[in-house]
Amino acid sequence: MLIPYHRQILREAIGGKFSERALKIITDANAKQDYLRGQIGHDEYHFDNNAMAESYAYIEENRTQIHSALQNGDVEAAWTAFGRLTHTAQDFYAHSNYIPLWLAQFDTKSAPPASDVIHDDEEIIQSPDLHSGKLYYPLELFSYIPFIGKFVMPLLPKDSHAWMNIDSPKQGKIFDYTFAAAVKVTRDELEKVLAELTKEESILFLAYNSPHD
Ligand SMILES: [Zn+2]
Repeated sequence: MLIPYHRQILREAIGGKFSERALKIITDANAKQDYLRGQIGHDEYHFDNNAMAESYAYIEENRTQIHSALQNGDVEAAWTAFGRLTHTAQDFYAHSNYIPLWLAQFDTKSAPPASDVIHDDEEIIQSPDLHSGKLYYPLELFSYIPFIGKFVMPLLPKDSHAWMNIDSPKQGKIFDYTFAAAVKVTRDELEKVLAELTKEESILFLAYNSPHD
């Protein structure tokens, strides 16, 4: 998903829960996953290349890091880990065919509004039909270049990231479902983190006591 949407999703999902300073640190860490260094060789950051188990493990790993950072009183490291974790959780809906599979149960005209999307349908999550886009380098890179892209697209298989991604509103109305699902999963991820923390750790993480931020 494109960085501006990751930012909007975070603000909409958890904006009211954190101070502006915390939200900025979370958002910057989330966005950084899409820098070049996080793009190459890191399928688990983005649910790319069918790295489902690895991506779930990466989310889990960051959740553990949040807890240990808070135990050490390092709240910034905890926010950074939360930023990384939310990036992966959000990319699931942009890079897999979860949303197309969910929408497939409705006639095109009877699909519920995007805000009603069910983001955690276990049947779809466990389905053998669920897969995510593969990165076919270097062709994938050329597909993003204006004018050249349209000549490259027919050369790329339909299971490529270039064909499958729902990274921006350029993909059409379907992006609204991706966005709404990503907002919902971000809230879930915050709940999961908080469930593992003591009261004191939660207060530190949410920075209730820093009105000056
Ligand atoms: Zn990404």
